[in-house]
Amino acid sequence: MQNMVILGATGSIGASTLGVISQNPDAYRAYALVAHSNVDKMLSLCHQHKPQFVHMVDEAAAKALNEALSPELGIEVTTGEQALLELVTAGDVDTVMAAIVGAAGLVPTLAAVKAGKRILLANKESLVMSGQLFMDAAKASGAQILPVDSEHNAIFQCLPESIQQNLGYCDLGADGISYILLTGSGGPFLNTPIEQLKLMTPAQACKHPNWSMGPKISVDSASMMNKGLEFIEARWLFNTKQEQLKVVIHPQSVIHSMVQYRDGSVLAQLGNPDMRTPIAHCMSYPERIQSGVEPLDFFKVGQLSFCEPDYRRYPCLELAIEACHQGQEATTVLNAANEIAVAAFLAGGIGFTDIAKVNAHGLSALQTQTLTSIEDILALDTEARAKAREFIRQLT
Ligand code: NAD
Ligand code: MG
Repeated sequence: MQNMVILGATGSIGASTLGVISQNPDAYRAYALVAHSNVDKMLSLCHQHKPQFVHMVDEAAAKALNEALSPELGIEVTTGEQALLELVTAGDVDTVMAAIVGAAGLVPTLAAVKAGKRILLANKESLVMSGQLFMDAAKASGAQILPVDSEHNAIFQCLPESIQQNLGYCDLGADGISYILLTGSGGPFLNTPIEQLKLMTPAQACKHPNWSMGPKISVDSASMMNKGLEFIEARWLFNTKQEQLKVVIHPQSVIHSMVQYRDGSVLAQLGNPDMRTPIAHCMSYPERIQSGVEPLDFFKVGQLSFCEPDYRRYPCLELAIEACHQGQEATTVLNAANEIAVAAFLAGGIGFTDIAKVNAHGLSALQTQTLTSIEDILALDTEARAKAREFIRQLT
């Protein structure tokens, strides 16, 4: 029986993870559920999954949940950063699903990495922010990192075991790999006339053609900032050189990414676009379990198509690739600016195409500095958020 902590239990990845646990009740247990403040959702998850611990980041939410939970369930409710760190590093915990959205996921995820837990990594923002430090911490503690993000999970499945066991430090070329092909659907605005993009609303941006996801990653998919963050995520996970990562638009989201080998072979992982597949793969690796996902029906799929991304449509993708080549400060600043911009867009404060403006401004204001600790990264993140807020005030 594996004891799992689910960071971000009330979200979309949290729901899919609990779904896979329910399919395999003899092998996995939701030991602890962690979320920000959604009391009603958490209450219903508690009744369904009966965790031993529940942690709410919001103190008032923790209090309300504690009052609403019947004592017979025997669930302990905690709040406060220290309690969260104790929870993810507890001796009883085998696996941590890192599925908090955004930079808020960094500190608890890194604590789990340092404690040598098996890490199911959905929270790409934490790796984008801390790249080398994150991978070094995993190497030092021996924590196995398993990529949940469907593209990175697909790539992982198409790589030899020697690389799977040496993420962050592998040498793709030495294993006969020419490059990685990161696929992306192009999001809901793939065919929208470019001059109309500025009129797109949050509801339109969140209506992804193939995937059902939380609001932040949905907006990132519409701008293809998500593919940009994934580009940076892949850079750290697979230790890629500049020429070893390429982005391909594949609107059907059936191929989840590919690996091009030296001899001309291309390995791809395919499946229905449902996050329960990569989650189940990570939970059971190197074995296979039921995920509840239907097999892919090729007759229904019919066609697979591909095209090159147009940076005039997706300026955020170009910014992220540039930031990746610039290094850690640039990716940390870009991630922070983007979180502020997406939140402002979702709140109706700025237009869709302003997101790229906020991000470009963040990168242009970048000052060279060296990041040697998580404290440095968090300080730069805070500073970049303040600058992005200030720029948004000027914009509006
Ligand atoms: P979501 O918005 O549906 O859920 C977010 C979760 O994070 C919620 O449980 C919320 O309570 C929690 N949370 C938010 N702020 C928090 C804070 N300050 N402290 C603690 N918890 C907090 O998001 P999602 O779509 O499930 O995505 C979660 C992560 O997984 C993101 O990093 C996303 O990029 C990544 N991811 C998601 C998908 C997907 O299909 N949804 C695919 C790949 C990667
Ligand atoms: Mg993805």
